Amino acid sequence: MPKPTDILIAGAGIGGLTAALACAQNNLKVAVIERASELGEVGAGLQIAANGTHVLEKLGLGAELENIGFRPEAATLRLGQSGRTVFSNPLGEAARERYGAWYYHVHRADLHRILAEAANVNPNIDLQLGKAVTGFVEKAGLVSAALSDGNSIGAGALIGADGIHSSVREGLFGKDAPRFTGNVAWRLLVPTRSLPAGLIPPHATVWTGPKGHAVTYYVRGGELVNFVGVVEREDWQVEGWLESGDISELKQGFAPWCSTIHQLIDAADETTCFKWALFDRDPLPSWSKGRVTLLGDACHPMLPFMAQGACMAIEDAWVLATELATAEDPAQAFLDYEAQRKKRTARVQMAARANAKRFHKGAPLGQLGTYGPMWLAARVKPDLLNKPFDWIYGANVTKA
Ligand SMILES: Cc1cc2nc3c(=O)[nH]c(=O)nc-3n(C[C@H](O)[C@H](O)[C@H](O)COP(=O)(O)OP(=O)(O)OC[C@H]3O[C@@H](n4cnc5c(N)ncnc54)[C@H](O)[C@@H]3O)c2cc1C
Repeated sequence: MPKPTDILIAGAGIGGLTAALACAQNNLKVAVIERASELGEVGAGLQIAANGTHVLEKLGLGAELENIGFRPEAATLRLGQSGRTVFSNPLGEAARERYGAWYYHVHRADLHRILAEAANVNPNIDLQLGKAVTGFVEKAGLVSAALSDGNSIGAGALIGADGIHSSVREGLFGKDAPRFTGNVAWRLLVPTRSLPAGLIPPHATVWTGPKGHAVTYYVRGGELVNFVGVVEREDWQVEGWLESGDISELKQGFAPWCSTIHQLIDAADETTCFKWALFDRDPLPSWSKGRVTLLGDACHPMLPFMAQGACMAIEDAWVLATELATAEDPAQAFLDYEAQRKKRTARVQMAARANAKRFHKGAPLGQLGTYGPMWLAARVKPDLLNKPFDWIYGANVTKA
């Protein structure tokens, strides 16, 4: 067995790579084991709010983030069928002033690439592709992880950043299937040049409707519009980023929606259409045992309806690395980490579930009761619309 490393991370997704960079910045030697034989994230858009941006900036990735990102001017809520605007609240400079960092929209692949590039040139990080962590044992102050290529690797501590179907989680707490949330999501990327000018405003827009909602925003510096359309459905539960979607089925799901949504869908290339069922899990009562812990979706997978899953993984990574660098031993570091993170991540998980209900109002009375107060606030006291987000975007784990 090769000489043990300080930290072993299972999974080189956004969470695993951020954790590797944060540990390396604290002079820890890190090995990252990734199941995929090539790095190259799939998927489409991601919103990185100020709470995620703070960490990426502290890791020295601020300039790269600015290069790949798009800064939305406003957060907007519209009724999907009529297209009417309930509110449009400034983001951009206003959000930076309020939260101390920019709000960005990025393509997942672009964010993953800048993280991977930084990891690849970091002498403290050893990134190993094409093998999975299949099990682990802890003995005499070391964790030994079994790998799918038949080898094993020793480390002072193991972090499971291996996503919603985490094998490290299973090794810690046993088998436990994720929960199907009753929602299916379609994803499209549409070239901006193929759309009439001004059709999609440069906002983070949520379009609400009966038993479904859609989200539109620009990525890749404004070259592409990211569309996610969510519909409540029980009959299709295939999970994964690479299930092709059928545009005619997507259009049917949004049949009574306004012409803007249909113009957007009509301009999409069928090959960019993917569909997947959305799963989450309940908050975990504890995250760690001894020298093994979890991070990101391995720990607290959530519906994407707060646009915070990746941001929570990024925050986890920073806190975890800070604790590892300062605590007496990894087991204590993990207990301190989990004590700082559990309440916040559980609250975001629950808020994402609540948004499924909030965004899917169909009946006129339900819409009036939910969106009426927002419409009024936007006209009388717009700051009331910011306040519910302050606890999320306003947190800066790099200052804690
Ligand atoms: C439609 C949608 C929209 C979203 N929008 C947003 C958004 O706007 N903002 C936001 O912050 N979040 C968003 N999210 C959530 C975000 O994508 C996830 O929370 C985030 O990617 C989780 O990162 P992770 O690194 O924890 O896990 P993953 O991205 O799942 O990475 C896990 C990695 O581990 C590898 N792996 C798996 N098993 C093993 C193993 N046994 N050994 C080694 N490697 C292994 C996998 O190959 C993968 O590379 C969205 C999610 C969805 C579905």
